Amino acid sequence: MKIVITGGAGFIGSNLIRTLTRQPDVTELRVVDDLSTGDKRNLNGLDVGFHEGDVQDAALLDQAFRGADAIVHLAALPSVPRSLRDPVASHHANATGTLQVLEAARRAGGLHVIAASSSSVYGANPHLPKREDLVPAPMSPYAVSKLATEAYLGAYHHSYGLPVLPFRFFNVYGPGQRADHAYAAVIPKWISAVLAGRPVTIHGDGTQTRDFTHVDTVCQVLTDALLRKVVDPRPVNLAFGTRTSLLDLLQEIEAATGRRANREHTAPRTGDVTHSQADSARLGGLFPTVTPVPIQEGTATTVDWHRAELSGRPSRR
Ligand code: NAD
Repeated sequence: MKIVITGGAGFIGSNLIRTLTRQPDVTELRVVDDLSTGDKRNLNGLDVGFHEGDVQDAALLDQAFRGADAIVHLAALPSVPRSLRDPVASHHANATGTLQVLEAARRAGGLHVIAASSSSVYGANPHLPKREDLVPAPMSPYAVSKLATEAYLGAYHHSYGLPVLPFRFFNVYGPGQRADHAYAAVIPKWISAVLAGRPVTIHGDGTQTRDFTHVDTVCQVLTDALLRKVVDPRPVNLAFGTRTSLLDLLQEIEAATGRRANREHTAPRTGDVTHSQADSARLGGLFPTVTPVPIQEGTATTVDWHRAELSGRPSRR
């Protein structure tokens, strides 16, 4: 099986490539990535064909998709705050980029396309847990671009019979997720702050909740979806219905690092949702054998990875 991963030099993409290289049925892996937020070093030691460039480049996609069986479309400018600074760039990369990927998949003969949408599409809809058929209420340009991503997959299934599967990722974390950039996610940011003895910034009072999903769990689901060619035009939550407050998360990080955090509270961030918890019934129906990595274990392995990075002896994962 030949698989193309767009955004393969990023956090989730490079973890997925590691998981897929262990699958006997996977014979070739290719990456399309413009390295805007990813890093080629994430692919060190891995046997992948690298196509450097933007997913909006149709000719590049045609070359990368030739003879492939499936596409995992992860390329995007992630982060809500980034999209608030530059909404047009997020729209181009995430929405137009998805449209170009679907067109190229169609030109290549109707490839299986699995893509990453986001729990941010639920936005201002207060209903919990988040069931896929709730009315989406995006609160940021990023969320709109992800709603467009999943809607385009559904439309290509209905219009052209393209075999698709859009996932709504929740807060994905784990080894390989970096803290050293302006739009870092909360878990890497806090782990690196606690390890370095820097204060931890909490936006709001810290009682907001998230359904944190370990990257190994995400990769298990994506791999199963590829190998069994799971197709569904309706979005599927990729999270297991856990609800961890940021204050509880900080306690997990303190336990895993063996250090106390210095807390600093600031105003809540624009565009952030207060509570996020998936209804995982649809996921469970499609992927009954997947078992999630618990937050305690996931936090511990993530802390180990950050420690190894800080020591200058990066772990092989
Ligand atoms: P990441 O930034 O580590 O990876 C994204 C990759 O896409 C990077 O390697 C980047 O260089 C590449 N990229 C960006 N724009 C591109 C373009 N126009 N053309 C080609 N490549 C481009 O982020 P991640 O956390 O690995 O996220 C992967 C996907 O999952 C994204 O679509 C993101 O929106 C989605 N997602 C992630 C989370 C999370 O918690 N990490 C949650 C919801 C959704």
